Amino acid sequence: MRNSQAARKQETVRRILVITIIILALAIMAVLIRMMSVNSCSNPSHTGILPTDSPSTAAQTPPPSVPAEPTGGEPTGELPPTNTPAALTPEPTPQITPEPTPEQNAYGIPRVVTEGSMNDVLARLEQFKTLPSSETLILLDVGHGGFDPGTIGIDSGVTEAELNLQLSRILAQKLGEKGYFVFMTRMGEYACADTKRDDMNLRTRIMRLDIFDVSVSIHQNALPTDRDVHGVRMYHYKYGTEGEKLAMSILQAICALTDETRTNTNTGNLMVVREPHAPSALVECCFLSNPTDEARMQDPAYQAVFAQAIANGIEDYLRGTN
Ligand SMILES: [Zn+2]
Repeated sequence: MRNSQAARKQETVRRILVITIIILALAIMAVLIRMMSVNSCSNPSHTGILPTDSPSTAAQTPPPSVPAEPTGGEPTGELPPTNTPAALTPEPTPQITPEPTPEQNAYGIPRVVTEGSMNDVLARLEQFKTLPSSETLILLDVGHGGFDPGTIGIDSGVTEAELNLQLSRILAQKLGEKGYFVFMTRMGEYACADTKRDDMNLRTRIMRLDIFDVSVSIHQNALPTDRDVHGVRMYHYKYGTEGEKLAMSILQAICALTDETRTNTNTGNLMVVREPHAPSALVECCFLSNPTDEARMQDPAYQAVFAQAIANGIEDYLRGTN
């Protein structure tokens, strides 16, 4: 009996020992597995969890976004930082000098050139820096272009960029006929630079030059939520009076030649009216979200009338200030 009790006690102790050893072994294995696991995931790219201040996080910081054009047709929005380098110097190409035109003059600078590459545009800008200030030089800012089509016609799909260029080319000719020199920020279906930010910076740097007598930007409007909204909208900067005079002069000339009846201009803190050194106005010629506006602004006859009106308005303003 005593032997039997002793044997049972021994068996119990043995079982406790075995269980203890198994528990210890399991614990050691768990620690080892955990250590191996930590080692294999030390590369953040494997875990998908990045340390908060690791260089990888900094490298993935997205570039600053370019301000988008606000809906409702206002073309430019807020200005990106102006200290971003945007080269004004053109890439050297064999075709820098524009072809002489019948408007060739004593300065050797054609009054009007409406076709050419961006290098031609920049070369023309350099030429205009030598133009005597007694001559009148008009900055014609042709909105959008290239990768940036601007507003799209609601029925036809026509792009604002191509309409802006068509109208600006006619307008430039009309201004040349009045004896003015005209500089266009683009003379073809391209953007002024490779990105929207650089495009706007380049336009800004041109507008800030003190060589122009007036600056007029050509854009088309849109309000897709209300297709009835139509007609011209004139913008000028909220400070200063010359831009307002110029905008009103252009609006009155448009009312004189078309069925436009609007009598008020609008202020806007837009790059194209804020940045120019010269008195400046933005012409939102029509609403491409309105079927009537969209159709007739593509009609060459209407384009000629509309461009003539803008040219008359610019001339009226310039005569009033002389
Ligand atoms: Zn626009």
